[in-house]
Amino acid sequence: MHHDVAVLIGRFQPFHDGHFGLVEAALQRADRLILLLGSHRCAPDIRNPWSSGEREAMIRAALPAAWQRRLEVIPIRDHLYSDNLWLAEVQQKVLAVTAEDERVLLIGHRKDRSSYYLDLFPQWDFQDVPLKSDVHATAIRQAYFSDADAPGWAAHVPEAVRAFLTDYRATGRYRWLRQEADYIAGYRQLWSVAPYPPTFVTTDAVVVQSGHVLVVRRRVRPGQGLIALPGGYLNQQEPVLEGMLRELREETGLKVPRPVIEGSIADRHVFDAPGRSLRGRVITHAFLIQLKGGALPAVRGGDDAEKAFWMPLADIYVHEDSFFEDHVQIIQHFISRL
Ligand code: NAD
Repeated sequence: MHHDVAVLIGRFQPFHDGHFGLVEAALQRADRLILLLGSHRCAPDIRNPWSSGEREAMIRAALPAAWQRRLEVIPIRDHLYSDNLWLAEVQQKVLAVTAEDERVLLIGHRKDRSSYYLDLFPQWDFQDVPLKSDVHATAIRQAYFSDADAPGWAAHVPEAVRAFLTDYRATGRYRWLRQEADYIAGYRQLWSVAPYPPTFVTTDAVVVQSGHVLVVRRRVRPGQGLIALPGGYLNQQEPVLEGMLRELREETGLKVPRPVIEGSIADRHVFDAPGRSLRGRVITHAFLIQLKGGALPAVRGGDDAEKAFWMPLADIYVHEDSFFEDHVQIIQHFISRL
């Protein structure tokens, strides 16, 4: 049966020959295609290296002109801790560009467990497109961000994407990502001799006062130069609360007496999304510290933080894609409850 609209969800990091096959299958079955570009403005890392703008440019350049006229590209954010918020955003974006009586076909390939989201749209028909074997975005990125080029990232992407990625290798951004990739590979290698894959425990402090949140700029990898919450690994003999207070003091030098900080803890929550860190399984205990209004207390950088500063809450959204891992979502979790 022919459909009015096809919907294709993906990250397309980068857009490869398997994705091209999905677009082709979609346009054979529907008049037009809504391509939902996932992970919009998420933390930059080697899993999500290219911005929505860069990805849309790559995709459009790879498609024939006649297909492009039938294509609408719409970015959507991740909501790591709420599939319902994510589903609501997907539904809203599609509703905004379709008529009520249009028949919608969701297109995709059930690749592995990460494709579970394809089963969350009972209101639309679904078409599974077979896997184009040997084409995997993860393998393409691994080869592209390392010296080991085998089996050759360039062999599995459309010509226009190959040209973009070749030019991109000369950018400062590529060099930054390359160093991040090397760091992550080295870190994982160090732990590969452990009898079981390790689970790390960290703490984070969300200190809020007068519409500002206390953040740091990371001095170390991973995420060097990105904005983050003050926090870090828990020491072996340390309760979680102590770890949080120690990291907060070391990284920000926050000039507030300890009893006041402790007395201002308004909430705490565990953030445990399995994919939240590229280092491996990292579970963080985050604390909301709500300080009373007035002049913002003095802070300074230290330890793993190059610089500590108070950021107006509105700026979180302006700088969303300069934050480390899921820290924007941790801040959002707490400030939506204040
Ligand atoms: P992707 O770019 O890896 O894949 C896009 C589509 O192409 C998928 O259907 C995939 O199975 C298919 N595909 C991949 N390789 C193929 C090949 N060789 N041959 C044929 N088909 C192939 O994108 P993805 O990671 O699946 O995208 C899902 C997006 O939805 C992400 O941005 C994710 O973060 C988002 N999401 C968010 C939430 C949330 O925030 N709560 C929940 C679910 C999904």
